[in-house]
Amino acid sequence: MRFERASYPPEVGPIFSLSIHADYQCEHSGVCCTSDWDVPAELPIYRTLDQAMAAGRLSAPGLPNEGGPIFSREDLPDDAGAMVARTSTGDCVFYHRHSGLCVVHRDLGETSLPSTCRHFPRVAVRDWRGTFISLTHYCPTAASMLFREDVPLEIVESPAAFPPAAYDGLVVDPDAWAPLLHPQMLMDLDAYSAWERHMVRRCADSSASPESVIATLTRDARLLRAYTPGAGSLLDAVATLPSDLVEASPPRSLDESLALFAGVIDAVPDEFTPDADEQMLPDAFAQYVIPEWEAWSAPLNRYLAAKAFASWTAYQGRGVLSIVRGLEAALALVRVEAARQCRDNGRPLDAQQLREAFRNADFLLNHLAGGEELAEGWSRVEDGCP
Ligand code: SF4
Repeated sequence: MRFERASYPPEVGPIFSLSIHADYQCEHSGVCCTSDWDVPAELPIYRTLDQAMAAGRLSAPGLPNEGGPIFSREDLPDDAGAMVARTSTGDCVFYHRHSGLCVVHRDLGETSLPSTCRHFPRVAVRDWRGTFISLTHYCPTAASMLFREDVPLEIVESPAAFPPAAYDGLVVDPDAWAPLLHPQMLMDLDAYSAWERHMVRRCADSSASPESVIATLTRDARLLRAYTPGAGSLLDAVATLPSDLVEASPPRSLDESLALFAGVIDAVPDEFTPDADEQMLPDAFAQYVIPEWEAWSAPLNRYLAAKAFASWTAYQGRGVLSIVRGLEAALALVRVEAARQCRDNGRPLDAQQLREAFRNADFLLNHLAGGEELAEGWSRVEDGCP
């Protein structure tokens, strides 16, 4: 697949996703409506909701009987007319706890939803090649999709769940640089696409442990970094990366994972930094996680694929090694969160606890930490830092 730079204006283009996400449908878990998140309503949406409330076509079931504000105007982003208010427990006022439904969606339709609600849990990157959509696995439905065995893991075009549209996410400026191979050299977009597909292909090897996937991609990234112009194309260099796997075992201790976890926490603004909660985690990891870890390679590798695909670090970081360091950190977060689940529940790792670990890892990565700050930290690996 080749891309002509002038063929695709940045707001339009083909849509890509991972096969495991391609038929995503909201199952109304309500997580995004009860997480105490800011929900800005764009001005036309705010007017629609306000008029519908005034005309009695819309209610706010989250409000107490004595009533309360439906909108607020504090800390408004530029294009917002108002913020949707929340209850004292952090529910959106339009969330109907009894049915688990959003009454805006139910009574006015999807087009009346604030864009934040329409786009969650999609996490997109738009560049000259098109739009690349991954999901945040903080959404329980998305997290469950990591366990599916009914489709091979691959990048697919025109996924049914994501029709052509302008998706929220990282919009790469048309004049921005292509992803960096390393701090001194740019990639071309054909080579970057090949590298992205290469990373996903490595993750699709269900016989490989996630640690082997990381070790192999680290080897491959280092080989690619050695590329010099004049020795064939970078696209060819990706195509001729070795096919063998670098075997690696899961760590016996949680120490390195906790260090990578701390690096992610460093990228979280102070006001959102969660309280430290690491007591007994190394013990829980050794007792409950390690003995079960190998059984979960397939969903863990699919999680890694979701980080390799539609990577923001490709544009915000300083090279292919930074992208792989980001995958390593994501896996470390899952280890830490899996240990936390098992410690709290007092039982060995199982599917339900691993799903919660994916959710908590992505809450940190996608909703608390800053993408630029994460990429800056992970890019230190380009300077030879451990
Ligand atoms: S407007 Fe609807 S979808 Fe958006 S947060 Fe509120 S209840 Fe959820």
